[in-house]
Amino acid sequence: MNIVFFSTKPYDKKYFEASNKNFNNNIRFVDPHLSLETIDLIDDAPAICVFVNDVLDKPVLSKLKDRGVQLIALRCAGFNNINLEAAHELGLKVVRVPAYSPHAVAEHTVGLMLSLNRKIHRAYIRVRDGNFSLNGLLGFNFSGRTVGIIGTGKIGSIVARMLVAFGMKVLAYDPYPNPECEQLGISYVGKDELLEKSDVVTLHCPLTDETHHLIDESALSIMKDNVMLINTSRGAMLDTHAIIKGLKSKKIGYLGLDVYEQEDDLFFEDLSWEIIQDDVFERLLTFPNVLVTAHQGFFTSDALKNIADTTLKSIGEFEHRQKLTNELASVN
Ligand code: NAD
Repeated sequence: MNIVFFSTKPYDKKYFEASNKNFNNNIRFVDPHLSLETIDLIDDAPAICVFVNDVLDKPVLSKLKDRGVQLIALRCAGFNNINLEAAHELGLKVVRVPAYSPHAVAEHTVGLMLSLNRKIHRAYIRVRDGNFSLNGLLGFNFSGRTVGIIGTGKIGSIVARMLVAFGMKVLAYDPYPNPECEQLGISYVGKDELLEKSDVVTLHCPLTDETHHLIDESALSIMKDNVMLINTSRGAMLDTHAIIKGLKSKKIGYLGLDVYEQEDDLFFEDLSWEIIQDDVFERLLTFPNVLVTAHQGFFTSDALKNIADTTLKSIGEFEHRQKLTNELASVN
């Protein structure tokens, strides 16, 4: 089958080409994001493959339909970047990779927590510069502290297991409590109670209307002073302006981000020679207690292999008119 891949990076090519040896598709890899302007790169392809920052709104979906696209394969788990309702109205099939490696994101989440707490990212630079002073590097024990996990699905539940092993008291908020977490002895509480009691808060729910700006000024007002806040889920779950205020007032003592509200203009590109125009993002980077990674939570060899295998399997199912195992069939 002819497939056009948008937002392609060298690592996508490497893993998809390897996996495609088992599928024999005719894949065309293109660099640009999918947009109204780049749709014309699709040349007789019934399937396209996109990533987290390709925006599939109604106008883009309509144009895809006009160009003969029938299947959209998201090579990611989250699907907040596609208007599913519009896709279904247009009769477009949508598949995703629901669980390529929740461990990859969970491990990165815990990595951010440890780095921020023990200031490993700053110690690395200090020691390389011949500065062996410990001043400013003081951390705290995770053991005995309370962590609040918002969203205990595939990723959140693995984070929970890891933090239980650290000796942390784990609180969780999720409209659908996970029996595995309950077995671990984790307490499900209301969102406000979680925010009030947690020394560390980490977000693992999807971005929806309900979770948009989940952490805003009012949420921050009930959180502990000097709280550690981690977001490896989706950027728009934080109201970044409120977060900056919270950092300035020292309400937030540690901030670890793998995602950012306006990341589509920045992440996944080498902009090291450019003048970054996003003043809010640049302000975030000036705080010594902020650690930002550029959406790399998923980025392990295991995950990339799973993403490629699952995506091409879904496309194979579509080609052979089989049931689509990983179809996003409804908005919920
Ligand atoms: P999942 O569907 O397995 O779990 C999500 C959980 O959130 C579910 O248990 C659900 O009940 C819960 N939830 C839904 N609405 C909620 C709300 N309003 N409040 C609290 N909980 C709520 O998803 P997952 O695989 O664990 O992934 C979680 C998120 O991680 C994804 O939506 C995606 O945005 C993000 N993600 C990030 C990366 C990365 O590289 N940084 C990679 C993959 C996924």
